[in-house]
Amino acid sequence: MKKQFAIIGLGRFGVSVSTELYKLGHDVLAIDNNEEKLDDITNHSTYSAVADGTDEKELRNLGITNFDHVIVAIGDDLQASILCTLLLKEMDIPSVWVKAQNFHHHKVLDKIGADKIIHPEHDMGNRIAQHLVSDRVIDY
Ligand code: ATP
Repeated sequence: MKKQFAIIGLGRFGVSVSTELYKLGHDVLAIDNNEEKLDDITNHSTYSAVADGTDEKELRNLGITNFDHVIVAIGDDLQASILCTLLLKEMDIPSVWVKAQNFHHHKVLDKIGADKIIHPEHDMGNRIAQHLVSDRVIDY
């Protein structure tokens, strides 16, 4: 079934998540506050928009409250990531997944109600290790 996703922050992680969701046939709203970041995503998302993820009015104007799933993929700016997550949870978005930079960031995101906290490098390392020792690789 087709789902609606909004991705806020179009670094490598945000672009990769957006592109794959779109490829899988879902509706994707891709958001970044830097217009240049939208150039590459336009053909790999349903809608794209320049907006500040820490600005409630801008998010509401984009109809963010109609989305069940929002992924916060803002990287280095921890303050922006935290504020954006807080706003989304205050707006009652049911599922807010957030990319964390470090343990302290993770702790704050947990406290303010992020539904899933992602550490891409750590999670990918785990998956690769499991894949390396899986039966299929041993057989190979
Ligand atoms: P990656 O590792 O995924 O490439 P990163 O961890 O280096 O990303 P950044 O490049 O710092 O993360 O941020 C990801 C994106 O988030 C950038 O494209 C940046 O323009 C965007 N971004 C930062 N602050 C905001 C904000 N307040 N609102 C919307 N987008 C933002």
